[in-house]
Amino acid sequence: MENCIFCRIVAGELPAAKVYEDEDMVVFKDIQPIAKIHLLAVPKEHFKYLSELNAERTALVGRMLEKIAANAPAFGLADGYRLVINQGDSAGQTVPHLHIHILGGQKLGWE
Ligand SMILES: [Zn+2]
Repeated sequence: MENCIFCRIVAGELPAAKVYEDEDMVVFKDIQPIAKIHLLAVPKEHFKYLSELNAERTALVGRMLEKIAANAPAFGLADGYRLVINQGDSAGQTVPHLHIHILGGQKLGWE
């Protein structure tokens, strides 16, 4: 989508501190980190909500989770991490393109 920040990062039109990329997704550093390590995993396909999953997107998100887990040590997250998907405004979803927050690098509280 033309005006989507994450689509523009995926397309290379906006800069991002990318730490991983493959045919399904891009992973880059969040510009407003809330943990010592705070990455965003963004699917290359644009869709807004987890509630828009179909069979193909479910498989895509499954592959993303698998690859996040496989690459966690390379991301500096061998000691553990937390994955968060915010769905909708009330949950704090600020970019209308599904993304998975990857948080770690420290002992995480639960607020
Ligand atoms: Zn997008």
